[in-house]
Amino acid sequence: MTDLLETAIVTGGSRGIGQALVKRLAADGWQVYFTYVSNADKAEQVRSEAEEQGGRVRAFQLDVSRTDDVAAWFKEEIKGAVNLGALVNNAGVTRDGLLLRMKDRDWNDVLQVNLNGAFACLREASKLMVRRRQGRIINISSVVGQSGNPGQTNYCASKAGLVGLTKSAAAELASRGITVNAVAPGFIATEMTEELDGQTREAYLSRIPLGRFGEAWEVAAAVSWLASEEAGFITGHVLSVNGGMYM
Ligand code: NAP
Repeated sequence: MTDLLETAIVTGGSRGIGQALVKRLAADGWQVYFTYVSNADKAEQVRSEAEEQGGRVRAFQLDVSRTDDVAAWFKEEIKGAVNLGALVNNAGVTRDGLLLRMKDRDWNDVLQVNLNGAFACLREASKLMVRRRQGRIINISSVVGQSGNPGQTNYCASKAGLVGLTKSAAAELASRGITVNAVAPGFIATEMTEELDGQTREAYLSRIPLGRFGEAWEVAAAVSWLASEEAGFITGHVLSVNGGMYM
């Protein structure tokens, strides 16, 4: 066991906040295993850029919404192959729409990726971490999971669900030396926010006290710290990275 590499898993590492997480955790000295769902080219780019900077990184195609696949992946690629030290549940999707018109499919898809997928990864990771009596789990929630947001009932419910999952798992796993925290980003400049129309972007911008969107590396810095030894007495916490905008 001792020569196995200390590894962090990041779900959804091929773009946006996830690619910044991969690069930051690799720079911190973790071996990083990250997942993506469809963007193999971008995943390869993230992997090679992180390795050019001296990191040890592997990319895996894994749709976290397929919870049987998640369990199989942990069994085949993680169990016995690495020392799992950290899990960052970052994979997330939006399917925005008004409540009265929301289709079951749009509700279910968002819950399945953002909440059920995170639960499946957390369950499998914690089985391995419990044996080592150590581990760091960080769930990427959102400011709108705390405040609600019109047009995003599905997304907000999934992100609020992650807060409940975080706090409950933190209470269950603390006695095994595992911390579970959430990071709640505000508006961060990524493809997810680029999809917003200009008027909506300006409206949000005017509500951010620091006067700008956040950068993916700023979320990664918060996660890096929560994954570090220094954060060992923090669990069940939701850390806001939002420029002062609590919606
Ligand atoms: P993004 O740019 O849209 O990237 C999403 C990532 O998740 C991609 O790597 C994507 O993989 C992956 N992914 C999507 N569905 C997946 C699935 N079923 N299984 C595995 N991976 C999947 O998103 P982002 O803006 O970086 O957001 C990252 C996280 O932060 C999300 O949980 C989001 O809700 C949260 N967040 C973002 C903001 C923001 O302002 N951007 C604010 C608050 C919270 P592919 O590349 O293969 O599609």
